[in-house]
Amino acid sequence: MDNLQLAVLFHETYERLAPSFGYETREDTKEFDKDSKNGKLMVAVCGEILPIIAGNPSTHDTELPKPTCTLCHKSDGTHRLMCPLR
Ligand SMILES: [Zn+2]
Repeated sequence: MDNLQLAVLFHETYERLAPSFGYETREDTKEFDKDSKNGKLMVAVCGEILPIIAGNPSTHDTELPKPTCTLCHKSDGTHRLMCPLR
């Protein structure tokens, strides 16, 4: 999935769910337009959150410390063979 696909998915889901929350979306943004200011913003936002969802917080932040497992105490983000969290 790329930025645009996520933006469209987000938009369509948002529009679909809005009425059941009693929310009336704006008439001029009901159709997703990737070239509008709103559309470009959506695509840019999706470009920022996609790597986070994918568990890969982009290229400028690759040195995140790996979590240490509280059960098997491996500190490189992996688990020992017998670890139940594996
Ligand atoms: Zn573990």
